[in-house]
Amino acid sequence: MTKFIFVTGGVVSSIGKGIVAASLGRLLKSRDFAVSIIKLDPYINVDPGTMSPFQHGEVYVTDDGAETDLDLGHYERFTDTSMSKLNNVTTGSIYQAVINKERRGDYNGATVQVIPHITNEIKERIHRVARNTHPDVVLVEVGGTVGDIESLPFLEAIRQFRKDVGRTQALYIHVTLIPFIESAHEMKSKPTQHSVNELRSIGIQPDILVCRSDRPLPEGLKEKISNFCDVPAKAVISCQDARSIYEVPLRLEQEGLAERVLELLNLPERTPDLVNWKRLIRCMDQPQQRLVVGLVGKYVQLSDAYISVVEALRHAAIAQDIQVDLAWISAEDVEKRGAAEYLAGLSGLIVPGGFGQRGIDGKIQAIQYAREHNLPFLGLCLGMQCAVIEWGRNVAKLSGGANSTEFDPATPHPVISLLPEQEDVSALGGTLRLGLWACRLAPNSLAQHLYHDSVTLERHRHRYEFNNAYRRQFVDSGYRICGLSLDERLVEMIELPSHPYFIASQFHPEFRSRPNSPHPLFMGLVEAARKHAQSYIAAERIPVAQEE
Ligand code: GLN
Repeated sequence: MTKFIFVTGGVVSSIGKGIVAASLGRLLKSRDFAVSIIKLDPYINVDPGTMSPFQHGEVYVTDDGAETDLDLGHYERFTDTSMSKLNNVTTGSIYQAVINKERRGDYNGATVQVIPHITNEIKERIHRVARNTHPDVVLVEVGGTVGDIESLPFLEAIRQFRKDVGRTQALYIHVTLIPFIESAHEMKSKPTQHSVNELRSIGIQPDILVCRSDRPLPEGLKEKISNFCDVPAKAVISCQDARSIYEVPLRLEQEGLAERVLELLNLPERTPDLVNWKRLIRCMDQPQQRLVVGLVGKYVQLSDAYISVVEALRHAAIAQDIQVDLAWISAEDVEKRGAAEYLAGLSGLIVPGGFGQRGIDGKIQAIQYAREHNLPFLGLCLGMQCAVIEWGRNVAKLSGGANSTEFDPATPHPVISLLPEQEDVSALGGTLRLGLWACRLAPNSLAQHLYHDSVTLERHRHRYEFNNAYRRQFVDSGYRICGLSLDERLVEMIELPSHPYFIASQFHPEFRSRPNSPHPLFMGLVEAARKHAQSYIAAERIPVAQEE
């Protein structure tokens, strides 16, 4: 029988419910319980695929090609379990399903209402995950903040849920903020009390409170919160800000969160195996070296827009005992001041995915700089497309200019063009080439060397593609096409044999990197960056030595 844990948030948004849910997932997984995590998102978009990264951060893609909330990335990375389209539920998708049923006549003439039709659909989505994957525990994160109008149907549904399945089958965790008021020199529990009251007013009494704060919660305050909120003091869990999100599971373990959960759900306590996780934190704490890698992108003001790239780079760095800091570089700034201004002295370059014309020339200039200065380069999706355009313009010297038809439909040399199956597609949501597709790696290529394999499965999210009409010209001028789809129709990866590390993929390797199994392409980048830094330092030192 699957058990259910509901995680809500109060006081402020961005309180870290996703990390708490993912961390608890890790603690249960490390006790050998199979877990799955669902994100309930209150917005009316059917999925976040059409939302701007400026507003919503990264769109995360699952194996089965769902475009989902970035929290699913945390769930996968923390629990080392692949999620699917069932794991992200939005208000839009709920209403779409209910309205479709109504149009089909499934409700037999009933008046369709929020309660019970919408709430039943929400409950059914949660049960569906349990039925499909048979986990021991399903964690459900309710997006938004308690008190929001949009979250109400979700909260009502999870209230009913426990009544339906029975007390010991489900529990509620509420994540809140305990602010420290500088002038009073005191931590304040009032916002938490208000938030719990709000939750109770809709019929949910939390079983556990996870209190976020910038410093440890004093025992006295735990008692006070316990008294006001009707939660036993040992179920008031302190969650102090951590240097890294990967530390959170260990802190919550210390606070006894998993023990409380198992007790309340009548699950047997087992000794957690957190050896690998602890090793991860140790490596992170004692890096042997520091490097800076540049990320040239369009959405750099909001690092959440590239969160999987950041995490994938971190996984590879930890595995090599290196701290890699990212230099966030706006592609538009590169256009204004030139690539050297930003890239000189860095140890590597990443150009990540994206959509639209803005900043494209800056990305192309950055890639040209990396190619000409032997700076290790990893291109991801749009990053690969920009690399192809750069080569077409500057090396293959395609007269009149090369471009992607995404940016210039009339370009004389459309080196990147629409996938043939995309030509008649006009709807935006869920219509890209999405999800897991196989890529065959060319023998004796850098790609094959990095993967130690001849085929890889990777996640995709794109509409445009390398134009096959240019394959010959590119190969003849020195490019290597090192990855192809199994039917050889689509170019999946390119590399430059004349460069120490210049590789790019049409897919998104960042979505498959996990803390304990970093992705080969990011491993390769960090290793190349390390070598580049050494040679750079060596080159810098020579004149100094001569002066002496
Ligand atoms: N805009 C490009 C395309 O649609 C790249 C997409 C991406 O980087 N995810 O193909």
